[in-house]
Amino acid sequence: MTKEPVYVGIDLGGTTFTIGLVRPDGQLVASANFETAIERGHEDIIDRMAQETVRVWERHGYSRDDILEVGVGSPGPLDLKTGTVITTPNLKWVNVPLRDMMSERLKLPVTIDNDAVSATFGEFWVGAGKPYNDVVGITLGTGVGGGIILGGRILHGAQDIAGHVGHMIIQLDGRQCGCGNLGCLETYASATGIVASTVEALKTGRPSLLHSVTPLTSKRVWEAAVKGDSLALEIFDRTGYYLAAGINSVLNVINPEAVILMGAVANAGDILMNPVKQYLKKMSFPRVYEETRILRGTLGDQAGVIGAAGFAKFR
Ligand SMILES: [Zn+2]
Repeated sequence: MTKEPVYVGIDLGGTTFTIGLVRPDGQLVASANFETAIERGHEDIIDRMAQETVRVWERHGYSRDDILEVGVGSPGPLDLKTGTVITTPNLKWVNVPLRDMMSERLKLPVTIDNDAVSATFGEFWVGAGKPYNDVVGITLGTGVGGGIILGGRILHGAQDIAGHVGHMIIQLDGRQCGCGNLGCLETYASATGIVASTVEALKTGRPSLLHSVTPLTSKRVWEAAVKGDSLALEIFDRTGYYLAAGINSVLNVINPEAVILMGAVANAGDILMNPVKQYLKKMSFPRVYEETRILRGTLGDQAGVIGAAGFAKFR
């Protein structure tokens, strides 16, 4: 019996990669998670991604003939014309022809795009962004990434760099960013940024539950905030302020219908979302603030694989 064909979406990260089988309507059929093990190098990682992809579809009763296309969301920057990962600190890759290497191994058409673009596209296709045509997604994890969808299509820009909202400078001469600049949004609104803000605040000697917490993580700061720790609450207020500054620039430049916040830091919920909305209300044009939806993603960790399958389908 032949099965309804599916797309393969792969979400490649520095710690794990996830492989998903996705129906043409965007529903996830199955997914599986694997260690990336970056120390083994790009050839080994790409070999394993291809082998595991075949195993995943076989385990669920599919054959190569049932697979429509493959999409891979990868850390970047990428060169989409050549399908190359130009450089990525997360994976320590330089000029890796990811698209063609995957395509040779799987004997299937492969499309690649940026990982945050994947997550944004997933939310746009079947998640929080489904009702909208113009959407900006912001991923708040170890770093801050983003994707822009205008008129239902991904905006890549001339050098495929569009959507890198994490490297908007929001504090001149601010914190050192991995990109070489000072004061990027990523250094304040990521999980790493939250920890840095907390370390700075604790040094002032103010009382906080967090003085005794090791290792300090953004989740522990969030837990303290939930318990009413005033220092932790202030950290989320400040993080919301920086994030609002970044979102306000996005609204002024792109004017999307919706901004979707995704990733582990977005799981902080109202403790982060309330200050974001409160500061954004002060910063942005009233008509824009009233009309723009500031949403949290609804697909969780699966946004990346669904989105990778989606951009493979709609490329
Ligand atoms: Zn930067």
